[in-house]
Amino acid sequence: MGEAVADPRRRVPRTDTLLADPGLVAAVATLGRDRVKAAVVAAQGRARRGEITPDEVRDTALAALPAPTPRAVLNATGVVLHTNLGRAALSDAAVEAVVAAAGHTDVELDLRTGRRARRGRDALDALAAAVPDAAAVHVVNNGAAALVLAATALAAGREIVVSRGELVEIGDGFRLPDLLESTGARLREVGTTNRTTLADYARAVGPDTGFVLKVHPSNFVVTGFTSAVPVRELATLGVPVVVDIGSGLLAPDPLLPDEPDAAGALRAGATLVTASGDKLLGGPQAGLLLGDADLVERLRRHPLTRALRVDKLTLAALAATLHRPGTPTRAALHADPAALRERAERLRDALGAHGCPAEVVPSVAVVGGGGAPGVELDSWAVRLPGSYAGPLRLGSPPVLGRILRGRLLLDLRCVPAAADDTLRAAVLRAAG
Ligand SMILES: *Cc1c(COP(=O)(O)O)cnc(C)c1O
Repeated sequence: MGEAVADPRRRVPRTDTLLADPGLVAAVATLGRDRVKAAVVAAQGRARRGEITPDEVRDTALAALPAPTPRAVLNATGVVLHTNLGRAALSDAAVEAVVAAAGHTDVELDLRTGRRARRGRDALDALAAAVPDAAAVHVVNNGAAALVLAATALAAGREIVVSRGELVEIGDGFRLPDLLESTGARLREVGTTNRTTLADYARAVGPDTGFVLKVHPSNFVVTGFTSAVPVRELATLGVPVVVDIGSGLLAPDPLLPDEPDAAGALRAGATLVTASGDKLLGGPQAGLLLGDADLVERLRRHPLTRALRVDKLTLAALAATLHRPGTPTRAALHADPAALRERAERLRDALGAHGCPAEVVPSVAVVGGGGAPGVELDSWAVRLPGSYAGPLRLGSPPVLGRILRGRLLLDLRCVPAAADDTLRAAVLRAAG
């Protein structure tokens, strides 16, 4: 028996003792008791089999737990709309609106009359007010859903006439032509990769045409011997013209002269414009549809629309974004390089005071997959040895920078100034 007491496997901590440990209590709060308990029991089993010591049970259980995701990260990549980082960051106003809408809400109720009301009317009214050229508007789950709805309702069993230069892949292997054909519409490709003329479209348009589609190549540029047909000319073909502007810019932005905007496309004669809510508009993931009143009403009444319906949280965030367009996306796009440089210098000095080898270097930020390919934004960054990248990515909060020639750049353009102290502390932890 003396031998059995000395057996370290007998010292495996009890389950309820382990579940009272502060680290595991915190894990229960985010992951739930069942998952944490399963990790504890598995670690106890390993200790009983002698694979780990009893002292290692707690840490083994903690290490086996998945980190909850999505987690908030600091975007120091210099890519304003980074798909892997969730594209647009919501404004404080949008976050507050989401929190307020999280419980029961009046999303489909008019509190004055006590009767049912149009779902998402605040967001829809704000969108209509932001683009007076649109006779009607509708919102679905994302840009791809807006296109699918338009193709299904207007061109299933018929043809969508589109330029070969605009059959784009939008990311992660998803290609617009496949998406459109999945609705039962047939694609009638016209022109070539680099050049398409109005005559190409005119030859293809006929009784089978559902609509002519113009897609903004939002993630690449074609340069050299090129030509594309502007919306204003497509509008003379006598069939509906659907314009996928991609980025969700509602009105022109002088910073992004080549980026199409919804108002401009409608004024040029587009019948319908589709766009994303979480690119340059800086709102939640959503698909915006703007245009002709009869056509939008047809889309709204289509059975598929119910399957693409947006959540109350999306509607709340979208309404707040439209009411107060001072979004983090806009702030990052329009940040003053001189102010970015000052912040970088302050950060370098604070890090240097702790012996951290930080330097200030000019940097080039970009809009990202969300729009404006080819646009370069002058920026400033703090440069660190490449060995900081891993610890910063695994830190809390995780910080994502950009590796350039083996070194880590922390570009400040997409880091809110209010997060500078958090960033400094994260770098010092990564150094330590
Ligand atoms: C981003 C984009 C889409 C897809 O929009 P999601 O909101 O990501 O579904 C479609 N077309 C263009 C031109 C785009 O830029």
